[in-house]
Amino acid sequence: MWIMKPDREYNKQKRIGFLKNVIKTFIISFILTSLAAKYGLGPTRSGITPTISWLEFLDYFPLIIIVSLILSIFIPLSDLYRISNLICNKCFTVKSNDGEKHCECGGKFIDLRKMQWVDKKSEGRKSKK
Ligand SMILES: [Zn+2]
Repeated sequence: MWIMKPDREYNKQKRIGFLKNVIKTFIISFILTSLAAKYGLGPTRSGITPTISWLEFLDYFPLIIIVSLILSIFIPLSDLYRISNLICNKCFTVKSNDGEKHCECGGKFIDLRKMQWVDKKSEGRKSKK
């Protein structure tokens, strides 16, 4: 059955999800910015050729880190409040976020991440592993 997640749990998961996004975005940004710095922003007529030496690349290194850091904060931030899936708090119909908050059953659609599925058996108990 579906139950509401405790707010603390939801916020904790949101923070962890955000951190994961920051790390992922940082790695991708770092690789892409490094490639762009080393090989130029586009392929040349003779194919992709290194435009700067590794020594010159080191000069760009602080800039690459700064650009990657900025991207890794702003990209996940823009994603943080985007709710992709909604669930009805009465009939538990799940749908994608189309802006409509009212369900046909009279219930209200809320962020799916605020709910969690629990087995009836483990209801009220912490699940054992
Ligand atoms: Zn409903």
